[in-house]
Amino acid sequence: KLYNQVQDLKGNIRVYCRVRPFLPGQLCNSSVCSIDDGNISIVTPSKYGKEAHRTFNFNKVFGPSATQAEVFSDTQPLIRSVLDGYNVCIFAYGQTGSGKTFTMSGPKDLNEQSQGVNYRALSDLFFLSEQRRDMFCYEIAVQMIEIYNEQNRLNVPSANLVPVSSTSDVIELMYIGQKNRAVGATALNDRSSRSHSCLTVHVQGRDMTSGAVLRGCMHLVDLAGSERVDKSEVTGERLKEAQHINKSLSALGDVIAALAQKSSHVPYRNSKLTQLLQDSLGGQAKTLMFVHISPEMDAIGETISTLKFAERVS
Ligand code: ADP
Ligand code: MG
Repeated sequence: KLYNQVQDLKGNIRVYCRVRPFLPGQLCNSSVCSIDDGNISIVTPSKYGKEAHRTFNFNKVFGPSATQAEVFSDTQPLIRSVLDGYNVCIFAYGQTGSGKTFTMSGPKDLNEQSQGVNYRALSDLFFLSEQRRDMFCYEIAVQMIEIYNEQNRLNVPSANLVPVSSTSDVIELMYIGQKNRAVGATALNDRSSRSHSCLTVHVQGRDMTSGAVLRGCMHLVDLAGSERVDKSEVTGERLKEAQHINKSLSALGDVIAALAQKSSHVPYRNSKLTQLLQDSLGGQAKTLMFVHISPEMDAIGETISTLKFAERVS
């Protein structure tokens, strides 16, 4: 309730930043950023010994030690609003390796503590719908879609929408979906980082007394890696992929920026991604973007361009 009031005041778009920790085996030199409340400062040491700082402001910043549960707790009110009939989009944006899949799904060795937003969101939906069972009869169905080179690809075999009634149903489906996620020609060419992966949850609730039906929808999107490829170095298929990713991520940025600025024209039609999500971006819909950055100095160029993207949409 409080969250909805805050949303009304601030618009329906929130941007959270998450910095992943250094990974085991990485040399733990100092992080390129420092975090202070909703602000993140990037330190760019120059050749001349002088350090420059640039500060970016977000609705929330999660540091390297933030747990999956902490990250999810600020997302929870959005889940409730899906049961009230709102549409919601949650995105993970960032360069490959910055932690998008970790936030949305979790690490490879998944356990209850390490589960990401997808599992927690579904599990909350089931829990809350059960709590309301005296008033509403809810039906929940999911769909997994991958967008690769501006083409949709359904990710759950032989079915568009799959009805689910428990978290274990969802875990099973996501497992199948992940196995089906397009694999590239070579192991080096991990195609999963070059496609957008979208788990869509449709919720329908019938009011037991009036018979009125509420419909809400939630898209959980693990976006393709945002890194720029050097056009002089890639050709053929790889270049085409890069151009498609570039096009759809900038189209997404344009749509969210237009919504944030309350512009009268919102350019939904410029990519498959924004067309697919149109009903859940803008209007009464609520949008949350998790922006991911890596702490390494090597990544600083991409980190700054990620933060600039985020600055534009918030
Ligand atoms: P992306 O999906 O953006 O390419 P991943 O989610 O696959 O990145 O993360 C890259 C690696 O970093 C994985 O091994 C992942 O488990 C690890 N990682 C990412 N974020 C975290 C985090 N917050 N805590 C611990 N490990 C993380
Ligand atoms: Mg990933």
